Parts: sequence; structure tokens; C-alpha cells
Amino acid sequence: MLPVALPVDVLPRQPLAGLTSWKVGGTTEYLAQPRSVAQLASVVQWAVAMGLTIHPIGAGSNLLISDEGVQGLCLCLRHLQGVQMESTTGVVEAYAGEPLPTLARKTARAGLHGLEWLAGIPGTIGGAVAMNAGCQGSCLAERLVDAELLDPATGRRWRMREQDMAFGYRHSLLQDMAAAQRPWIVISVRLRTSPGHAPQRLLETIKANLSRRNRTQPCNFPSGGSVFRNPLPMTAGQLIDGLGLKGRRWGNAEISTVHANFIVNRGGAKARHIQALIHLVRDRVMGEKGIVLQPEIKHLGQFDQSLPSPVG
Ligand SMILES: Cc1cc2nc3c(=O)[nH]c(=O)nc-3n(C[C@H](O)[C@H](O)[C@H](O)COP(=O)(O)OP(=O)(O)OC[C@H]3O[C@@H](n4cnc5c(N)ncnc54)[C@H](O)[C@@H]3O)c2cc1C
Repeated sequence: MLPVALPVDVLPRQPLAGLTSWKVGGTTEYLAQPRSVAQLASVVQWAVAMGLTIHPIGAGSNLLISDEGVQGLCLCLRHLQGVQMESTTGVVEAYAGEPLPTLARKTARAGLHGLEWLAGIPGTIGGAVAMNAGCQGSCLAERLVDAELLDPATGRRWRMREQDMAFGYRHSLLQDMAAAQRPWIVISVRLRTSPGHAPQRLLETIKANLSRRNRTQPCNFPSGGSVFRNPLPMTAGQLIDGLGLKGRRWGNAEISTVHANFIVNRGGAKARHIQALIHLVRDRVMGEKGIVLQPEIKHLGQFDQSLPSPVG
């Protein structure tokens, strides 16, 4: 069989650290960052013909990428942007790569209420659907009408309604598909908002939310947000803080002194340092509280699951 030529939009052996909020991780075998749906479709078709595993990535704000890198195609959707707002019905349509803070501000300025809470989450709307991102008692599932999906295996494109997406706490069907090695890609979404509100009030809510985040989260170092899911009704942060683990370091990674469920990169940290602290927290919480903490962050690439905790 003739080799399939590399499309111009695909680059071999690209570093990934700069595409994540943690700023760690090795290189990917192939990287594509499509700017249109047509580009996306042709890159996906090429990857399938090559037998490559496809890894969809948004803003990389919930991802820990291995220092050893990633095999296959990292498909970064952050440049697939665009928003359309319907001011009478309040329906907002956005491409997968639209940044959440931008989406929150655009809708607030148009007097559309319901997405203000997204302003402090540094992801894309595609990633927010995959993760069912949430905060302040809201979550993406509550606002989703439907998502336009692409199944690389069949090339099929269709709209899936919110009620069919198996949403749960920081969970969606997309995570199950990725775990089954058959990732579906979010191309665009339709969201429900309430029209006719005073833009100034909505923008003030955003400002207040952001200043609360600045006080309660480490904003001066790169991080991946909350590392563990909250073992409700408790929070992971309270448990970790209660064990006196704030400030523990491994390499240049540190359990944040501001918010114990964040691990920050103090500069030059490696993914393995962050992973070692994740193991330390998991083992201490299990050993002393009998609670199994589940990671909220997603791992990409190979990690040594038997990694010993840093001593003490
Ligand atoms: C400082 C900070 C604060 C945060 N605060 C919050 C918070 O308050 N609430 C919250 O829920 N999260 C929070 N997060 C985590 C993160 O921002 C969210 O989970 C966000 O929704 C991830 O979006 P992303 O585009 O960065 O996805 P990525 O990190 O790139 O990917 C996350 C997962 O989504 C999948 N994915 C991404 N895009 C697509 C797509 N188009 N199609 C299919 N699958 C896709 C990936 O394969 C991966 O499994 C925070 C992170 C940081 C760094």
C-alpha cells in the first residue's frame, strides 16, 4: 500500500508543554491544530488512514501529559473558534475551541444570562463538555442543548442531545468513548441562556467571581486546576489540607499553599514530579482517612503507576 502523504496541517514531533496550563509534558508523534471544520475532517481522515490514535485536546487546562510524550495524533481544537448568539431565544452556538472566559464575556455583553460562571475556567467549550465542567453550583450539562460530534472511526457527524450524553459529576459519555479507545470529537455546541438581562449586572457578576478566584486559587503559577474530584460531601482540598500537605514539594512541583487540591509548577517541574505528588496525596488520604481520591485531571501518555510516593 502507498504511504498516505502528511497533510500540510499536520506537524511531526511537536512539543506539547506549551499547549497545556501546567506547562509540562514531552512531544507528540503528530500535532494538528485545525482552524476550520473542513481542515478538521481532512486531518481526521488522514489519521484514521494511518491507523493513528487520535487525542482531542482543547486548552490543555485539565491535562497532565507524560514527559515521555504521546504516540499518535494530538488534535488541538483551540483554534476552531466562533460564536453566534440568538438574542430573542437565548440560544448560543459556539465552536469547540471557543475559550470559556471569552464566551462568558461575549454572552454577558449581549445581555444573555447563564454562562457568567465560565469566566474563571481557562478551558475551551469542547473540553468543558467532555469534562462537564462546573463551579458555583452550576455545570455545563445544565446549559447544553446539544453538541455536534464527529466519530473519527466512521466519519459520521451528528448532533447529540444533552440527555443522551451520560453527564455526571465531571463526567460525560465522551470520557467513556475516549477510555474505550474510540474518542468522539466535539465540533460545536448549542447552549441555553436567558435573554434580556442588563449586561452591566452580568459583567459585574463575572468580575466578582474572578476576584473570588484570585483570592482562593493559586493564580501566579501554572497548574491544572483541581487535581482530584471532591469525595462529596467533603472536598479534596479540605482533606489534603487537614493532613498538612500544603507546601510539599517534589522537584519544582508543589502542593499549593493557597489551595491544597492544586499542584503548581514553580518553574521547570516535570510531569513525573507532579505525578509523584499525586501519588503522595492519594496514598496519605487512603492510609489516614480510608478514602480513595479519584483524579479529576486527565493523563495523556504513559505514566508509571507504581511510582513510589516521595518519602515522608
Ligand atoms: C486555574 C484553573 C482553574 C480551573 N477551574 C475549574 C473549575 O472551576 N471547574 C472545572 O470544572 N474545571 C476547572 N478547571 C479545569 C479545566 O479548565 C476544565 O476541565 C476545562 O473544561 C477543560 O477544558 P480544556 O479545553 O482545557 O480541555 P483539555 O484539558 O484540553 O482536555 C480535557 C479533556 O477533554 C477532552 N476534550 C477536550 N476538547 C475536546 C473536544 N473538542 N472533543 C472531545 N473531547 C475533548 C480531552 O480529550 C480531555 O480528556 C480549571 C483549570 C485550571 C488550570
